[in-house]
Amino acid sequence: MAAGEFLVPSFVHLYDGTAPSEVNARELAVFLQKEVPPSAMDIRADFLRYWLTRAGEEERSAPAFARSVARAKVRQTDRRELDHDPLPGEVDFELRFMKAGGKKPAGILYDAHQLIAIYSELILPQEVSSEHCHIVVTNQLFGTWDENDRRYHARVSVYGFPSLISTAGLIEGPAKPREFYLGRSMGLDRANLEEALKERYLVYGDARLREAIKGYLLQALFYHVTGNPFCENKECRLFNAHWQEDLIHAQIKTGADLCERHRHMLEKWTCE
Ligand SMILES: [Zn+2]
Repeated sequence: MAAGEFLVPSFVHLYDGTAPSEVNARELAVFLQKEVPPSAMDIRADFLRYWLTRAGEEERSAPAFARSVARAKVRQTDRRELDHDPLPGEVDFELRFMKAGGKKPAGILYDAHQLIAIYSELILPQEVSSEHCHIVVTNQLFGTWDENDRRYHARVSVYGFPSLISTAGLIEGPAKPREFYLGRSMGLDRANLEEALKERYLVYGDARLREAIKGYLLQALFYHVTGNPFCENKECRLFNAHWQEDLIHAQIKTGADLCERHRHMLEKWTCE
């Protein structure tokens, strides 16, 4: 759908690879539908499960995709090693979850750009167009390589075709308050520190994850439409937070919303 110079996607596909205890896919779809009424929204299963089953490719292609995903695993965060051969046990691990369709335990760090490359191969040609916005919501942890300090950093989201958003990334990506690291370096007990600082960063099983993730759906949408998912304004849900406190401020404070400029842009696209 053309809206001025921008093309709003006719279809938004949400892939649900999270645990219901973390976020609720239906709630996310309702949220996004309200923001972009003209787009048709649908909730699909975990990305790999959905596409391997839909293409009827499960038996034939699943082992090859399991191998590619195992290859995307980051072995050492300070080494960029893209062509290692995964161990048979690692491939079996991926295959098992791909076939069972169950939620994979989080804990492994994957290279996000490799995952996007693997995933994009699976999308059928009729859905490879700017009319279709694919957003993968997952409990899996992924990161990107940083040339400056030459190491991988866990990320909340990486935008592409498809875009990836991680619930584990909400917890592991942005840095905790400085007091946390200072306390740890002074040998203070982790549990005590967590109790004292719990309002200021997200943890696993945190009830706030459900709200925190919504702004990242908007970032994926803005990326899809304009190529730019972020905003400089700390009050805006498109703010690219590097600190937990900034994330909580942008996404969870009462009345969390887009800034005026981005709200206006969204209204302009969706009213035409
Ligand atoms: Zn903004």
